Amino acid sequence: MPWIRRGARRVWLGQHMTLGPIIVPEGEIQKQDDDLMAYVAADRTVHKFKAAVLRTNIQRRGLTEEQAAQTLDAFDEGARQNHHKYLSGLRNAYNEGSLQESTVAKHRSSQCWRCKAHVDSDLNLECALCNWIACQCGACGCRSDEPPF
Ligand SMILES: [Zn+2]
Ligand SMILES: [Zn+2]
Repeated sequence: MPWIRRGARRVWLGQHMTLGPIIVPEGEIQKQDDDLMAYVAADRTVHKFKAAVLRTNIQRRGLTEEQAAQTLDAFDEGARQNHHKYLSGLRNAYNEGSLQESTVAKHRSSQCWRCKAHVDSDLNLECALCNWIACQCGACGCRSDEPPF
């Protein structure tokens, strides 16, 4: 059952019995009774799971280290593409923007202002312009009516 650390990020990857590969931020996987947030690779969306139910739906034979790394690579690549599209669509067109590993050591989690998905510094990369955690949908703190801060 692979854990992957990249920069300040730390995620666990597993094989869900019906949904396929999932990526769980470290801060979420420690939840016992609450809802937890995990990214489902098949539909490229963050889902809310009941922690106890999710545990019963994880295949004992999980992803290999290689499959896990590929799943996270695809996640990062999707985020980079969506973020590029997002920045290109802004009126001020900050085309030089890119994603980077978090520059803030402290764990951060929030909700995307645009799509309302859970964003998490254990999972998501950071916008190099505004230093917000960039959502998988591509949105960050850079807005069309404001300069990047
Ligand atoms: Zn979003
Ligand atoms: Zn930004």
